[in-house]
Amino acid sequence: MVESGTENDVTHEPGVPDSGGAAPRDAGLWIAGVLIAAAAAVALAFALVGPVVVTVDGMRAWVARGTTSLDLSARGRLQGTRGDLVSVDGRILVRHGGGPPAIRIDGAPAAVDAPIPGGSDIRSFHGRDVRESTVMRFIETPPGVRFAGQGPVESVEDSGTPGIVIADVGIVSRVEVTRRVATRGSPMTVRREPAWTGRKEVALTFDDGPWPKSTDEVLALLKAADVKATFFMIGRQVTARPDTARRVLAAGMEIGNHTQNHKLLAHASHAVVTREIERGRRSIEKVLHVQIRWYRPAGGSTNGFVYREAKRLGMRVVLWSIDPKDWARPGSRKIARRILDRVRPGSVILMHDGGGNRSQTVAALKKVLKGLHARGYKMVTLSRLYRLPAQVAIP
Ligand SMILES: [Zn+2]
Repeated sequence: MVESGTENDVTHEPGVPDSGGAAPRDAGLWIAGVLIAAAAAVALAFALVGPVVVTVDGMRAWVARGTTSLDLSARGRLQGTRGDLVSVDGRILVRHGGGPPAIRIDGAPAAVDAPIPGGSDIRSFHGRDVRESTVMRFIETPPGVRFAGQGPVESVEDSGTPGIVIADVGIVSRVEVTRRVATRGSPMTVRREPAWTGRKEVALTFDDGPWPKSTDEVLALLKAADVKATFFMIGRQVTARPDTARRVLAAGMEIGNHTQNHKLLAHASHAVVTREIERGRRSIEKVLHVQIRWYRPAGGSTNGFVYREAKRLGMRVVLWSIDPKDWARPGSRKIARRILDRVRPGSVILMHDGGGNRSQTVAALKKVLKGLHARGYKMVTLSRLYRLPAQVAIP
């Protein structure tokens, strides 16, 4: 293209007047030199700052020079994902909330924030899981429970002592994981008592009310049969339906506490147990102004704190001797049969006037009232069955 040689070798472009002499030839060389230098500079610049070819998880790609694995991750170019944020007990709290994807460049572990050299083969993997931060706490544990005797009523004979453990508590999950036992508690003894069975008496008990429609339907049947029963009410439902609760009391029924929110307490902390039982009782007393003597744990679920708390509040814990599982709606005939086949003097019979559609319970109750009458049973309140004074108003 550019020729150098003697003056005689110079060819002239046709039609371009020869202005003559050495000056134009020097200019041409000079321009050519500049162009070469410019091309070289561009090539050098490209080589220094231009994009590079790399292989990212098996795919060839151009990336800007200086790009890091972290940049690729942020742009969603890596198949490997961030690790997860996991709870103190190992559950995933935030998917991809952990460490950056693990990176291997040409087979060797590489820093995620280092520029990727051209020609590299980058492989990405699931990053490191990060455990949530924890704080150390001393946590009271419920005393173990030893039962003595048999029967549906349970009272604390010996309170035992709670233990204390040192635990790591997740600041996100609030989950407590025991690190070590600081103080070993001692177990409590709970005495189970049967009712006096010298007479053919049983106690019908109804849980999970007050409830729209079914509580009043149960009440109407009991009234018509001149039968007194015990209703274990849920605190927040008494607050929501105070008039229904008042009708139950006005009909001469006994009222028991069935927690504030029907919370199962077997694994609950002391604070939660206290709150559920105390608030449940307070909600009932506020509307009905009677002293609550009986506590029935929601779902029959207890721990050592539950027994201690019931005792502190002057309540007896009562479960049941016959559970016909009416809540599972097996049909009214089956519910009635389960009760009538198993009834004995002193039976505490569990049914539900709330917590869902209770039409089967209501239909079964008709058969149960009739069947128990026919068998010579008297149906009484729990306090009556256990020969305790009748429920009294709060002075
Ligand atoms: Zn219940």
